[in-house]
Order: sequence, then C-alpha cells, then structure tokens
Amino acid sequence: MKAIAVVPGTREIRLIDQDVPQLTRPADVRLRMLDVGICGTDREICAFQYGTPPPGDDHLVIGHDSFGEVVEVGAGVTRLRPGDLVVPMVRRPCAHDDCVACRAGRQDFCFTGDFSERGIKNLHGFMTELVVDDERYMHPVPRALRDVAVLVEPLTIAEKALIQVDEVQRRLPWACDVGPGRARRACHRAVVIGAGPVGLLGAMALVVRGFETAVYSREVAPNPKAELVTAIGARYVSSQDVTPAQLAEEIGNIDLVYEATGASVVAFQVMEALGTNGIFVFTGVPGRKAPIELDTDLIMRNLVLKNQVVFGTVNAGVEAFQAAIADVGLFQQRWPSALRALITGRHPVEAYRELLVGPAQGIKNVLAFA
Ligand code: BGC
Repeated sequence: MKAIAVVPGTREIRLIDQDVPQLTRPADVRLRMLDVGICGTDREICAFQYGTPPPGDDHLVIGHDSFGEVVEVGAGVTRLRPGDLVVPMVRRPCAHDDCVACRAGRQDFCFTGDFSERGIKNLHGFMTELVVDDERYMHPVPRALRDVAVLVEPLTIAEKALIQVDEVQRRLPWACDVGPGRARRACHRAVVIGAGPVGLLGAMALVVRGFETAVYSREVAPNPKAELVTAIGARYVSSQDVTPAQLAEEIGNIDLVYEATGASVVAFQVMEALGTNGIFVFTGVPGRKAPIELDTDLIMRNLVLKNQVVFGTVNAGVEAFQAAIADVGLFQQRWPSALRALITGRHPVEAYRELLVGPAQGIKNVLAFA
C-alpha cells in the first residue's frame, strides 16, 4: 500500500510501500483515504524543520488534513458504517493521569506536551491508502460535501478560535443588535492576516457570523485571492498599499484580528492597531528569525487601557470539528464557486514531491488517493 513518508535521518521524502493496517480494538474503523491536503506544516516537515517519526521508526508517514470513506468497522463501533465519509481528527491524548485536558478528551489543550499528532508527531499520518483508528476521532460528513470535505480540518483552526472568542467576549455586552423585526447588521469588525487556506476559511467563518471582514495580505490586488475575498463579501487589503495604522483608520474599531500567516513582524504591527475590547488570535507558527524591535510600551498600554486580549490557539476539539463540518455546508450553499476555488488542484499521488518541496502554488493542493 502506497504512502508518502519523510526519513529525517537521510533527509529523504519517498513514496513507500506500507503494510495494510489491521483492526485491533473493537472501536477501530478502517478508512480508505480519499483526499489528503498539503499544508504549511507538511512543507515544514518536508524541509526537516518539524515532525517526529513514531518511536522506533526511521520514517514518518505525513498528512493530516484529510478525509476518507469507512470501509470496515470493529464489533464495538456504534456511530459509523461502511460507506460513511469521515474527517479524522489530528491529535491523540497523552497518557498522563494528571493531564486533566487529555483525560477529558481535550487533547488540543494537552498540558504535558506528550500528545501525539497523526502525520506530525509520533504517529503516522493519512497520506496513504488505508488507515485504522478509533471511531471517537472520526467525524461524519454529508456526501454532498465530498468535493470540499478536505477543507474541514484547516477550518477547525478558525472554529476553535471563534469558540474561544465567544467565551472571552462573554465578559462584556458584545452581542449585535438583532432584535425581532430589525435587520441583522454587522456590528463587529475583523481583520484576517494572510490569504492562505487557514486565513481564507477563517474569513468565510467570520463573514457568516456577520463580521465586517478585511483580509490583509502582502500581494497587491488584483489577484485570484483578492477576487475570492471580494466574492465572499469581505474586503481585500494589500499590506503594500495600506499600513496597519491606516487599516484601523479606514475600518474603525478592530474588534478581532485572526492571524493566519506565521509572519510575526506584520502580526505585531497589526496588534498595535487592535481596537478597544479587541481580541487578537495567533494561529501561525513562525520559523525562528532574528529578533525585531517592538514598541512594547504602546502594546502594553493598549492591552490595559483598551481591555484587549491576546491568545494563541492550536489544533481543535470535537466541537470545532462539528462546527467546521456545518460551516463548510453553509459556505457551499452560499459561495459554491469561491469554496471550490480554495482547492487549487487535485493531483495524483505521484505528484507529491513537487507539491511538498517545490515553490508553493495556489491555495490548497490535494493528493487524491482514490
Ligand atoms: C495542524 C494541527 C496541529 C498543528 C501543530 C497544524 O498544521 O492542523 O492539527 O496541531 O499543525 O502540529
């Protein structure tokens, strides 16, 4: 069975032949993988900056944003049947009794750092033909989403962020004025930094929640990402045309910044423009570069005097997966072409090398295993 693996010891990226995984526990489910997306994390693993093979193995089968079809279920499986389409979660809990997060099924908040992630850390991933895993990590998706279900996992990052934003903003009167008989209006303004898949999916999630949304990215418009942003009713702003300070002047109070590039310099510049009672969410993982100068007095004054909150978020729990599946359905109804346009290409498995180590192209590239 074909799989795509990195071998850190020899710095190789190879198409390997892997054994077919067997069902060993009653709750196990076997999936035939359909689409497996390629993301920045995969490209970093293929540059040997990230990623850890399972203990005892010299290689790591990569791939984590994916979906597949159930082909076999163990005797204890209750929720899934062969033929169901499912999106698997990425992270598995640590084994420590005192990790309250993992013991509660919230390994996305693991305290010990000893979690595993399929295709990233200590467990083989989904860039292969068949995988076996516990049904509790699989989320069913409607068949109507077959073409776009690979976007669910990258959207879970925004969903987890927005769940937390809602929780944080319960601290103040924040709901928009949507009383009976009154038209719904956008009362919150969001800036998304970055127009990659995580940013664009995040922008869609913000627009459907009624945020007046701007996507702030480097490339000058017109360009295909800017067109897509306009098509979903958001505004595209190039950082080459507008500084973060000008952005705040044009937009008004920036209530939320959703950072989705991993570019720390621009992120902290935008943080200086965050508005009163605003929240800044980091999702990107920057590579280590030389330190930069920051106006820490300004940032700290703003944090205090404007009641701001800054948080980082990684991975996603069950609620975020469920919300992402519902939202992909909503995006499909509302913007079918824009949603499809997020998938730049579906490629045969043999095209893996160029996509993983060649120049980044388009938005989301997918390897089609079936
Ligand atoms: C994945 C997350 C994972 C994170 C850190 C991201 O690309 O989507 O599930 O937790 O990388 O490894």
